[in-house]
Amino acid sequence: MTDLPVAARPSIQSATHNVETVLWVKHWTDRLFSFAITRPPSFRFRSGEFVMIGLPGETEGSKPILRAYSVASPHFADELEFFSIKVEDGPLTSRLQKIVAGDQILMARKPTGTLVLDALKPGRRLFLIGTGTGLAPWLSVARDPDAYDRFERVIVVHSVREVKDLAYRELFERDLYDDEFMGEEAKAKLTYYPTVTREAPPPGVHAGRITDLIQSGALFRDLGLAGDRFDPAEDRIMLCGSMAMIKDVAALLEGQGLVEGSNHEPGDFVLERAFVG
Ligand code: NAP
Repeated sequence: MTDLPVAARPSIQSATHNVETVLWVKHWTDRLFSFAITRPPSFRFRSGEFVMIGLPGETEGSKPILRAYSVASPHFADELEFFSIKVEDGPLTSRLQKIVAGDQILMARKPTGTLVLDALKPGRRLFLIGTGTGLAPWLSVARDPDAYDRFERVIVVHSVREVKDLAYRELFERDLYDDEFMGEEAKAKLTYYPTVTREAPPPGVHAGRITDLIQSGALFRDLGLAGDRFDPAEDRIMLCGSMAMIKDVAALLEGQGLVEGSNHEPGDFVLERAFVG
């Protein structure tokens, strides 16, 4: 289907999902890409939430293939952006990586998720910690002025294997600071902390796993913070990425006296695994 010219592609029909049009696609590496789709006027979400998106089944009558994706756009955006891994034999991403502008995809009618500011107690510093495509919800939260209204400092930590995997680096190193609406807030409050784990870092990029950076206190020293651990009275943390990272960092946070929160009961930290497929 994806080899046909756009005009010749059959349009998708669905009684259960929104059918949206792809607006643009950006390939970062052979394993990472981003894309945006139209936003139906009825679709409301909070920055940091996720939604099921996907494609119809490949054979007549088969079920659609849907996966959870964090919306990378802030809640007020006109279009919905997503950041995805490409899995060669993944049932969805092996096909999704071939989409081009003008194609259609399916999206659930309602979003959900715990990586929202409302699930955190008030605090002074907000740490948004992600591995790989677990950066996606921070693209939403860090582009939402609400984060800067609620916190004195917003720190985006992105851990990847190699420098080439640092997608959106220019957004965090330049574009957000130059932004017409958010630039001043970003300059005053936003810090980007990229770290690579499988090659030597160039200037401006840190080295090592987030777990090691927390345990050694290097994260706090690098950020110029007093102390070498999180402060349950002031620090709020969101985690997204690999299961192993989330499990290990959540254990570290609990060891430092922080309590997991939820939509029903706000806490000191919240977590969600990054979604692949
Ligand atoms: P990933 O393997 O989860 O790594 C992302 C970052 O998370 C890395 O910096 C990694 O550090 C770190 N990390 C992983 N577990 C951690 C833990 N328990 N505590 C702290 N940090 C942790 O994600 P990815 O690189 O996006 O890869 C996702 C999938 O793609 C994986 O299943 C991988 O096997 C596959 N992959 C394929 C290729 C390919 O060429 N085909 C290349 C890369 C990845 P470490 O580097 O120290 O693990």
